[in-house]
Amino acid sequence: MPAVGEKPGAGVYECPFDGQRVILESDAEVLMECPSCEGFLYLSVSHEEESAETPARPS
Ligand SMILES: [Zn+2]
Repeated sequence: MPAVGEKPGAGVYECPFDGQRVILESDAEVLMECPSCEGFLYLSVSHEEESAETPARPS
């Protein structure tokens, strides 16, 4: 489980307490405290879920 102060890599992370999402845009970014509840642990949101929302490629 990624925690504040770690660099878990680019991706979407979700606070398990209130569902607040934080997006890291690069592998060099450090996870910060949840802006909503100051929580310090995150769940990694699966990339499959993200790609499922991607529109189909133009043909
Ligand atoms: Zn939170």
